[in-house]
Amino acid sequence: MPALILPHHLRLGPARFMFSSNQLHCLLLLAAAVAVPSSTVAEEGYWPDGKTYCVTLTYDDGIPSQITHALPQLKAANLKGTFFSPGGVTYRWSQEDLDQVREEGHELAGHTILHPCARKNDWVKPGNASEDYDDARMAKELDENLANLIKNGVKRELATFAYPCGSTSIGEDNHSYVPLVKERFFAARGTQFGFEIPSQGEIDLFEVKTVAGHERDLAFQLDQIRNAREKQGWLVFMFHGVGGDHLVISTDDHKEMLRFLQNDDSVWVATFQEAAAWVKSKQSTAPSVTSIPE
Ligand SMILES: [Zn+2]
Repeated sequence: MPALILPHHLRLGPARFMFSSNQLHCLLLLAAAVAVPSSTVAEEGYWPDGKTYCVTLTYDDGIPSQITHALPQLKAANLKGTFFSPGGVTYRWSQEDLDQVREEGHELAGHTILHPCARKNDWVKPGNASEDYDDARMAKELDENLANLIKNGVKRELATFAYPCGSTSIGEDNHSYVPLVKERFFAARGTQFGFEIPSQGEIDLFEVKTVAGHERDLAFQLDQIRNAREKQGWLVFMFHGVGGDHLVISTDDHKEMLRFLQNDDSVWVATFQEAAAWVKSKQSTAPSVTSIPE
């Protein structure tokens, strides 16, 4: 006879001692009858504190408009973001800017120093293209990036990373440098479009998908949030300029996105590190399907 397994919310606590075994039997049958089959994920929820989905706001390249416009808007909405920035050729923050980002509770995260991207981009300086890198050069640069983060208060074992231009390969042979990132960082964001649904299976925490916040229009961006909510997913936005600089979202649209999130009780707005840590903890405790005996 198969064991009667009740979902969590129907399991009986100490109150069962108040019932005779007959009454208990009836109660169990009743409970089994009213238990509507649904997925464990939907019943217990994947995200912390009863939240339905997760959104992470990330800002790349350490550029002035993020200080001028993004920071005050994040503060007003009481939301925290992740800034992939310290060091680098794109980087134009002062130490004061860096201090402000950290002191306002945001995550500082890695993005290399020279921001190597493919040679085909006309703005890439000769000698600094991703094709010009070998493992030793990239390892040295990642170490320098990590050292900058640690100097600015980031815990070594929790530092996260975003691949410049989303490219995970270096050298003329375009080989992957993900192993070098894995040796040094906790998790990494790629630039592959989309959002993750970690409740449906293991995700790659070293190439987390993203949606570029400057693309199309506000309606498109809000639709991405609604899609993630519907699927109980993890949506990582990638911003660059906010009301200025490159790959720009207007200050109005950025503000509206934050307002949407601020007014939605079902969303967990978490830094990249916080969300990755949550997913990692779930992945490491989840039973492997193949390990369940027949
Ligand atoms: Zn970048």
